[in-house]
Amino acid sequence: MSARILVVDDIPANVKLLQARLMAEYFEVLTATSGPEALQICQAEECDIVLLDVMMPGMDGFEVCARLKADPATRHIPVVMVTALDQPADRVRGLQVGADDFLTKPVSELALIARVKNLVRLKRAADELRMRALTNREMGFDEMEDVEESFRACAGRALLVDDRRSSYERIAAGLSREVEVTVEPYPEDALFRIADGDFDLVMISLSLEGFDSLRLCSQLRSLERTRSLPILLIAEPEDDQRLVRGLEIGVNDYIQRPVDQNELLARVRTQVRRKRYGDNLRAAVRETMEQAVTDELTGLHNRRYLMTHLESSFQQSLQRRSAMTLLICDIDFFKSINDSYGHDAGDEVLKEFARRLRRSLRGLDLVCRYGGEEFVVVMPETDMSLAFGVAERVRLTIASEPFLVEGGARAIDVTVSVGAACLEGPDDTVEKLIKRADTALYAAKRKGRNRVVADAA
Ligand code: GH3
Ligand code: MG
Ligand code: MG
Repeated sequence: MSARILVVDDIPANVKLLQARLMAEYFEVLTATSGPEALQICQAEECDIVLLDVMMPGMDGFEVCARLKADPATRHIPVVMVTALDQPADRVRGLQVGADDFLTKPVSELALIARVKNLVRLKRAADELRMRALTNREMGFDEMEDVEESFRACAGRALLVDDRRSSYERIAAGLSREVEVTVEPYPEDALFRIADGDFDLVMISLSLEGFDSLRLCSQLRSLERTRSLPILLIAEPEDDQRLVRGLEIGVNDYIQRPVDQNELLARVRTQVRRKRYGDNLRAAVRETMEQAVTDELTGLHNRRYLMTHLESSFQQSLQRRSAMTLLICDIDFFKSINDSYGHDAGDEVLKEFARRLRRSLRGLDLVCRYGGEEFVVVMPETDMSLAFGVAERVRLTIASEPFLVEGGARAIDVTVSVGAACLEGPDDTVEKLIKRADTALYAAKRKGRNRVVADAA
């Protein structure tokens, strides 16, 4: 998971230390030694996360954070405040200015990497959703205000799985101003409770009597209904190893006992916001988009959607310098299928083709009906060697089993030719990319069809 992190601290030695640790995990690191410099960088470049020192001369971390959060262009960048351990009041102020997370100096390696990775993962998901929502807006839909509003609004429902009365009472009381907390003191019942309930967050104690909290976490991650529900672990100070396991399983965040109420509030608030944000975006995207950008016959996205979304996806890949591959799939001799079996049978083949195509790809890949019997697949974060394998899989999925039409009465052998091209660098354009894939497709047809050809550029 590569990401770009901005480290801000007025003391160069601190910057160097964080930079070294982050670079060891292959993050790209930008640095700034003052507030104004940090703001300038956030405006000019795409940052995934800002690690922000609180104490700086001139413009301090609070002000920098407040400014970032006040500007719609930078509001979505998660800000992690780096505070001194003995200054709990800093956390309160951090919360007030909209900080997303805290780290305490001296910064522990585990906390640093865990928090950064989680925030990056969540930001990526939010970026993708926001980008798709913007695509809608460019297409003339305008229902995004609610979404932006919900990002700021909080007030959520949380379930707390904790079997120690003194602990859960204190935690619930600390959160009660903002979150409606339901306590579940019997961990065996938690899974059902969560799956049935409408929670924005679940907090789980890592030290439950005779019960493995991590098993519950992994169950939550594997159930469709609870997969995107944020999980926050409450850990004992010496439980680093299990914490790491938890984060690997997909736990979103953790807090260590003794629980600092303000820190917990910040964490809870972030998770609830993000959940809401995601839910709302997904709903808005679903509603507004579906009709106008869906191909009626196959249920895939149509060309109109592709052209709008491809442009932003392309720009993003360029900026992140990440790979992207585009496939054009064209059914072989489709005209003769129509001619031999009729137009309705042709339509059935198209529908089944779309189903098989969709099934052979990841959720992240964009699949569109580009025209009659031509389909385009956009695969972000995918280089040519990977994409070629995917295209081969698609080809085989089509060729290996005949298509049933007329209610199963007739079986038709269908094959597909695929042209693949990948993003080539800063001078590339969407038009050129499509053109290269199209040329590769043409070569596949010429060489006898039922094959994949990669652009040789
Ligand atoms: P090639 O292997 O070179 O791709 O040959 P082809 O016959 O697949 O290509 P061609 O472009 O000559 O023919 C495509 C045909 O697809 C022509 C058109 O009538 C048919 N077609 C386009 N849209 C639809 C549709 O929605 N339903 C059906 N049944 N046929 C369609
Ligand atoms: Mg064609
Ligand atoms: Mg064709």
